[in-house]
Amino acid sequence: EHPNALAMFKAGLAADPDGDAIRYFDGVVSRAELDAQSDALAAGLRDNGFGDGDRLAVYLQNVPQFLVCMLAAWKAGGVLVSINPMSRARELSHLLDDSGATVLVCLESLYGDVARDVIPDSPVQLVLTTSELDYQTRNDPRLFSGAQRVRHPGTRDLLDYIEEHRGEAPAEARLAPDDVAMLTYTSGTTGVPKGAMNTHRNVVFSTTVYRDHWRFDGGSVFGIAPLFHITGMIGHAAISLLAPMPLVLAYRFDPAVVLDAFREHRPTCTIGAITALVALINHPAFERDCFSSFTSIYSGGAPIAPAAERAFREATGHQVHNAYGLTETTSPMTGTPFGVPSPVDEQSGALAVGVPVPSTVVRIQDDDGNDLPAGEIGEIVAAGPQVVAGYWGKPDATAESLPGGALRTGDVGFMNDAGWVFIVDRKKDMINASGYKVWPREVEDVLQEHPAVLEAAVVGIPDEKRGETVKAFVSLKNGTTATPEELIEHCRAAMAAYKYPRVVEIVAELPKTLTGKVLRRELRG
Ligand code: ATP
Repeated sequence: EHPNALAMFKAGLAADPDGDAIRYFDGVVSRAELDAQSDALAAGLRDNGFGDGDRLAVYLQNVPQFLVCMLAAWKAGGVLVSINPMSRARELSHLLDDSGATVLVCLESLYGDVARDVIPDSPVQLVLTTSELDYQTRNDPRLFSGAQRVRHPGTRDLLDYIEEHRGEAPAEARLAPDDVAMLTYTSGTTGVPKGAMNTHRNVVFSTTVYRDHWRFDGGSVFGIAPLFHITGMIGHAAISLLAPMPLVLAYRFDPAVVLDAFREHRPTCTIGAITALVALINHPAFERDCFSSFTSIYSGGAPIAPAAERAFREATGHQVHNAYGLTETTSPMTGTPFGVPSPVDEQSGALAVGVPVPSTVVRIQDDDGNDLPAGEIGEIVAAGPQVVAGYWGKPDATAESLPGGALRTGDVGFMNDAGWVFIVDRKKDMINASGYKVWPREVEDVLQEHPAVLEAAVVGIPDEKRGETVKAFVSLKNGTTATPEELIEHCRAAMAAYKYPRVVEIVAELPKTLTGKVLRRELRG
């Protein structure tokens, strides 16, 4: 119905201008103020030569400035480029060059530590810096101890820039449904980041999925996932503007801070990686009441072990709905319908990742692109209004991953007779032990059934006899103990001989991306 994301979100902002758009610790930004600030920023950028289709990059944590920039990029007729705040110089440099961003909005601390040295050799012409201490006065020492304002020569302060242009608004931008709204870079869990071109059509459709099918439609939404990633961008920022409802932000994921924010702001809906939800219920400050305001909780981005879903339900009284998507699908293309329990497949032990959302076709195909019948395992291929048109500046990668417009996900899975989709694992993570296929996720699910196990990650390691053998890295719950031998025995009793891990290493914590995915690549060493 709306030609572009901006038109859709402007309707949300106008519906209740006095309502809260963003709550950030003790700070509040009203919808009218968000509208005014993004108008001013967009007007300033246009004055400075920012043209249609130009790229504005944000290098930020979960701060209110993110939404100001997102709206301003579109009001100025441009494209938002979101950069992982964990990126270091080499990665930042690659993303700026690849996207051709001419404006960068950056946290002051990230400027001094990383961006300053990268900017001179990048396409960036204007740097606006900003602080995590803006928009609030509480300055929680758990997150911001020692943080202070720093003005860097050669940069402008974002909020000063906005004040300079307050009251101005750019001419209405012409944004077509197939224009790129944002470039979101794949996590790089498995390879070099590629910029997925999420169009306005992709964003408009995806945001309505959260509202119409997953009941992100009232109360307030909490930002557990990072905003730079597609899950946070659509499942937090965009949906808060569409609903409209306040978005509660807490800078970055710190379990103690997040639990306090739940108590204070009483949010109703969220989506985050299961690893984050597990961290919350296992934190010493967790109480059942922290979650009592929630009505809709989804998890996406990483596999959910059935044991983790059960533990969450027992601890909070809430079901975690499963949602499966990629950066290339803008929003999850399958999800557990609201209020319906996800089935567990008896044979593989996997929890269903849901059913395809409306207007979306999910197929299971063999390596030659032939459709496979229900129950058979193959690559998951998806087509629908959320699937991106391609990767920015990468026609070869586009042709390879999106032949004919359908996305080859690189995930292996199957669909049952009832239409539920199950993920077996990522194609690239398969372990070949003496010619037997071992899928790490299945072994991880079994390990998670052990009462002492907090998280588990399984990888293949070189083995003289078998070619590869199965190794598990395990972290334990607070106050529990388990030996590697005991965990090996637990698995041996539950699965075929070629699958159980021959080596178990107990670690304090598993390496993860900011998006909550376990980095098996790092564990392989
Ligand atoms: P890269 O492509 O650079 O390796 P990435 O694949 O981690 O990065 P994302 O787009 O963030 O980038 O992640 C998508 C992947 O996350 C999917 O392909 C799938 O393997 C996994 N995933 C997402 N949601 C789920 C889910 N609900 N259950 C299991 N796995 C999921």
